[in-house]
Amino acid sequence: MIEVNSLGKRFDDLEVLKGIDIQIGAKEIVVLIGPSGSGKSTLLRCLNGLEEPTEGTIRVGGIEWNQAMSANMKKEAIRGIRNLTGMVFQSFHLFPHMTVLENVTMAPMTAKKMPKEQAVRLAESLLSKVGLLEKRDVYPSKLSGGQQQRVAIARSLAMQPQIMLFDEPTSALDPELTGEVLAVMKQLAKEGMTMIVVTHEMKFAREVANRVIFMADGIIQEEGVPKQFFAQPQTERARKFLRQLD
Ligand code: ADP
Ligand code: MG
Repeated sequence: MIEVNSLGKRFDDLEVLKGIDIQIGAKEIVVLIGPSGSGKSTLLRCLNGLEEPTEGTIRVGGIEWNQAMSANMKKEAIRGIRNLTGMVFQSFHLFPHMTVLENVTMAPMTAKKMPKEQAVRLAESLLSKVGLLEKRDVYPSKLSGGQQQRVAIARSLAMQPQIMLFDEPTSALDPELTGEVLAVMKQLAKEGMTMIVVTHEMKFAREVANRVIFMADGIIQEEGVPKQFFAQPQTERARKFLRQLD
């Protein structure tokens, strides 16, 4: 579903990603961890075309982007990749002047030209999935952070992506609100969504991930199944990182 080869990204003199190789199969749940500044967000942003890599190849659901392609083909590839991926950020960025339902129906109606009736039906089923159907006519400011993030997830799902990327989806939430968001993500995982999740929630990683990827200094330092990674990290870098979490 996702294949990344020798992916590099620099911002002027700052080399943020230094040759990343990743392969992720359909329905895999990968948790991406690493110290602040190690390039996790940049990697996710490259994977859905928000950031253009400076080196390497990305393949998402059969669509390839590589450095050698013409500008037009790159643009085309990025458009295709964006269609396949949904992204949820730390800050929810709901449209404040739109109701919950309008937030969820907007993208399918504008970007996919979905008829309103169909978009509303889709939105209602997604809101019910995230447990917020009864809030459909409410404005985001009336919702808790956890509820807003669940709407943001529903909004992203409304574009019917094949892959969901989560960048610290619970980091901006009060601790008592993280559980409801993680529960929605857990449910999505159960339903077979392919997911990459950047998070500090190690309990989620242990319970839900098939694989943990540990990044530091712009490279993948190690990866493994959660059980093995947490019990016996192979690198000193990972051991140090895990000690700091306790
Ligand atoms: P993480 O998500 O692991 O904390 P990021 O991917 O956000 O790390 O950032 C990695 C490094 O890249 C940081 O040093 C950050 O300052 C830098 N960086 C990220 N985005 C930009 C940008 N648009 N311009 C310049 N530097 C950036
Ligand atoms: Mg980040």
